[in-house]
Amino acid sequence: MNLILFGPPGAGKGTQAKYLVTKLNAFQISTGEMLRDEIKNDTEIGKKIINDMNDGKFVNDEIVNTIIKTVINDPKKRNKLIFDGYPRSIKQAQNLNLLLNKSKQKIDFIIYLNVKKETILRRIEKRKIIERRLDDDSEITLKRYDTYMDTTKPVLDFYSKNENYHEIDGSLNIDQITKKIREIINV
Ligand code: AMP
Repeated sequence: MNLILFGPPGAGKGTQAKYLVTKLNAFQISTGEMLRDEIKNDTEIGKKIINDMNDGKFVNDEIVNTIIKTVINDPKKRNKLIFDGYPRSIKQAQNLNLLLNKSKQKIDFIIYLNVKKETILRRIEKRKIIERRLDDDSEITLKRYDTYMDTTKPVLDFYSKNENYHEIDGSLNIDQITKKIREIINV
């Protein structure tokens, strides 16, 4: 099963992705984590993206599309992909379609965790203390939320026409969201 988790920063995608990885013996495909690793390892890509990442801006589509290609074509991860934070733009969604078609895979479920801006701000404040992420600051959070709405909402509108699209109230607690996801994907 391949699945996309959608939602603004702080919606709880990462938490649910980690649960699904264990439950389904699958792989979390978090472009955010992959990009943070590039910075941590001080790679060429890392050097190019560090400023945008720390400012809460999107990393350019070409870079993200390049790092995602290896993952989709990895035979070990075939049909075990839990996308968390990808695709985030129409260009990325088109690229994902292309890569999946080429490797004869498809997306089985698209799940949107719908959360209001105020809830996000509250959650990110908490996460800042726990995870110490440089982009978790209120001003940057607002910017990331707005970028999400501008760039990613159109992708969601595109996917929402599919019959495998589902929306969940992302302000519910972690266990309630997990329960709803399990009902949708029937596990
Ligand atoms: P996340 O961990 O998903 O909240 O992502 C953290 C940051 O990584 C974002 O604010 C962006 O700067 C960058 N990023 C992650 N995924 C993508 C993506 N699919 N496209 C562009 N930038 C991304």
